[in-house]
Amino acid sequence: MLCMSDSLLNRYHLLQADIARTAAVAGRKPGDIALVAVSKTQPLEVVQAAIELGIRCFGENRVQEAQAKFQDLREKMPDLSLHLIGPLQSNKAKAAVALFDVIETLDRVELARSLAKAMQTSGRRPRLFVQVNTGAEPQKAGVLPDDLPALLAECRVLGLTVGGLMCIPPLADDPALHFAKLAALAKAHQLKELSMGMSGDFQAAIAAGATYIRVGSMLFGPRVTRAAT
Ligand SMILES: *Cc1c(COP(=O)(O)O)cnc(C)c1O
Repeated sequence: MLCMSDSLLNRYHLLQADIARTAAVAGRKPGDIALVAVSKTQPLEVVQAAIELGIRCFGENRVQEAQAKFQDLREKMPDLSLHLIGPLQSNKAKAAVALFDVIETLDRVELARSLAKAMQTSGRRPRLFVQVNTGAEPQKAGVLPDDLPALLAECRVLGLTVGGLMCIPPLADDPALHFAKLAALAKAHQLKELSMGMSGDFQAAIAAGATYIRVGSMLFGPRVTRAAT
């Protein structure tokens, strides 16, 4: 246990120093870049060790896994902030609205309708970011850049406030191109928040204006993946 939190502490310090250095080079304040600690697949003990180090903002990609880990925790810790960073099915909108503080993966009108309804009935209003499929990859979630204006317009009709944009660049591309594209889209639509950058590319994201970076493996170490069958 001591060993685990020791190396977590080391990685956290390295990450904070890297964020500060990258922000300085980009002429930005480190405080304007929020860290979303991506705890998907990590056990509750790891989340608890991170909380002990002062980390309060976590990202999860599946509603059920997040419920299992965070439902009790967040009653004890009102200052936790939980981001949904994975695709959301409309039939889980109600559960997502009940649990998350930020839903980063709004990407279609049908989901916007389900979220609006869930917010109306629950009275909870998580912040919403729209995920943009900047690389127009067929298998990837996110609205296509060309369809973003229509989705944002529909959100306004539904009374939903969109606070920012999120993207996951294609693996094969230079991420900086996609971060610049997302930043330009956010600017064009006067959206303040930019969620972009992961363990491998957060420096480029900070340089391009990220206000949230989503870091998993650099902080928690490699994720345990299910063995191939
Ligand atoms: C897993 C994941 C991350 C974190 O990835 P790392 O490379 O481990 O930092 C960030 N964003 C999303 C959407 C993810 O699914």
